[in-house]
Amino acid sequence: MTTHRIQRILVTGGAGFLGSHLCERLVSQGHDVICLDNFFTSQKANVAHLLCHPNFELVRHDVTQPIWLEVDEIYNLACPAAPGHYQFNPIKTTKTSVMGAINVLGMAKRCRAKVLQASTSEVYGDPEVHPQPESYRGSVNPIGPRACYDEGKRAAETLFMDYYRMNGVNVRIVRIFNTYGPRMHPFDGRVVSNFIRQALAGEDITIFGDGSQTRSFCYRDDLIEGMIRMMNAPDAFCGPVNLGNPDEFTIKELAELVIELTEAKSKLVYEPLPTDDPTRRQPDISLALQQLQWQPTIRLRDGLKRTIDWFRSIEIEEYRPPTPNY
Ligand code: NAD
Ligand code: UDP
Repeated sequence: MTTHRIQRILVTGGAGFLGSHLCERLVSQGHDVICLDNFFTSQKANVAHLLCHPNFELVRHDVTQPIWLEVDEIYNLACPAAPGHYQFNPIKTTKTSVMGAINVLGMAKRCRAKVLQASTSEVYGDPEVHPQPESYRGSVNPIGPRACYDEGKRAAETLFMDYYRMNGVNVRIVRIFNTYGPRMHPFDGRVVSNFIRQALAGEDITIFGDGSQTRSFCYRDDLIEGMIRMMNAPDAFCGPVNLGNPDEFTIKELAELVIELTEAKSKLVYEPLPTDDPTRRQPDISLALQQLQWQPTIRLRDGLKRTIDWFRSIEIEEYRPPTPNY
């Protein structure tokens, strides 16, 4: 499904967990890649190995500010994604989603570029429909602590669809469900990184609530493949399309699996459930299967083993917690 024509591709948030892997894939396909990032939740180390490639370029920039570049495709990933990160400065989070979307859409309109938005399962909020199909309109608390992210991403989807209808911009929207893998920020507070870091350090594993809430975890390689397929899909299909692994696990099951795979002696400890924490989450991926012939191939157990190996390989003290809370 990948195109063989060399494209000039902008990846905003390109130094992050998903963005750096996307850049890697696009560089290896020979594309001319510009990675744009303000390094709020990432570090240059994520893309340092790409700097020696003549078809890779790194720009420090904040997507809330306009920028003039000439490109054929844009992947818009710039946005803090972990709850602790996006709640650190919630006003900035909303600005990043909304003003970032306006800026990349303006660029796409001027350059006649294709533009893909990294949206999220959070647009479904704490869902009453299970699993979640794209047609479900969601149950988001617009005034809660997660709203800066959820509503920011929802507003970005609105802007994408309006630029498509009003200006004929070639847009694509993917709704990403919990994705994990090597190069997650070890202090991002997300459940997979927290549990692995805690297990490897022999610390207690912190379960929020009673651990019966569910998530469906997608390995990053599967996700990146889906994203690239969506960018290369026929123009008639702009989404939104769910990308995620439909295998659903309780958070307690995840904790037990991490303990088994790391052979840790850690105990499970229970802490209060954060406000508006979704109770269940599982993607309905029939649309992705039908339109992109895409489905995940990596089981949680296998993806976790690779992620644990990576966590074992890093010097954790070299990672700067992006916010004072972590
Ligand atoms: P990440 O935090 O590792 O990456 C986000 C990147 O955006 C970071 O490099 C950060 O420095 C950069 N950034 C943040 N604000 C910026 C700004 N104002 N200007 C420029 N750069 C900025 O997170 P990730 O998991 O790689 O997520 C990437 C994208 O995918 C995000 O848009 C996120 O909302 C979306 N997403 C991710 C998941 C997931 O489970 N990983 C799930 C749903 C959606
Ligand atoms: N969680 C947990 N312990 C942790 C971190 C997270 O039990 O140390 C829970 C969290 O309350 C949520 C789930 O794990 O129910 C997934 O949290 P994460 O922050 O990874 O992502 P979310 O899907 O909530 O955005």
